[in-house]
Amino acid sequence: MQVSRREFLRATAGAGAGTAIGGLVGLGATLAPARAAAQELRLKDAKAVPSICPFCSVGCATLVHVKGDRIVNIEGDPRSPHNEGTLCPKGAAIYQLHVNPNRATKVLHRKPGASNWEVVELEWAMDRVAELTKKTRDETFIEKLPNGKVVNMSPAIFALGGATLDNEFNHVCQKFWRGLGVVAIENQARI
Ligand code: SF4
Repeated sequence: MQVSRREFLRATAGAGAGTAIGGLVGLGATLAPARAAAQELRLKDAKAVPSICPFCSVGCATLVHVKGDRIVNIEGDPRSPHNEGTLCPKGAAIYQLHVNPNRATKVLHRKPGASNWEVVELEWAMDRVAELTKKTRDETFIEKLPNGKVVNMSPAIFALGGATLDNEFNHVCQKFWRGLGVVAIENQARI
């Protein structure tokens, strides 16, 4: 399809899409073949490994495409009877769990009152978290309410799970926190 620069700009504005792709679509161009070709190129010679989205209990089936030891794509598995190849926005972003140059790979610590972050050893950070958890719990634990009702709770600690924790690990986490008497337990996935 031949499209002049003027036609392209008019269609982009008219379609209100605000993008070059929106403009092309506004002119009646179909991107499906180009998209299919790009996808085919990316997946050429890749091995498809069946897996499950780790994010929630829906457990959507995925296909992880690998070339050698490298993941090149993750998408919904069309053979799955419940997600039929689809994934929600979170599931559609699983690829970035594995391949993401912005992913933090070091533990950062900001001292009380400081404005900068310092790289610290994981071992040190784990000990620090354990130390502060115990200290806070010891100082604030409530065994009984004034009316004598037994509550055994640690109201000064709040637990927030990460969106990338899978179901099973979240289960273990909440067991752990409840064991310490923590009642304020939330997960970032629901916020
Ligand atoms: S794709 Fe979405 S709905 Fe499916 S398991 Fe993952 S998070 Fe849950």
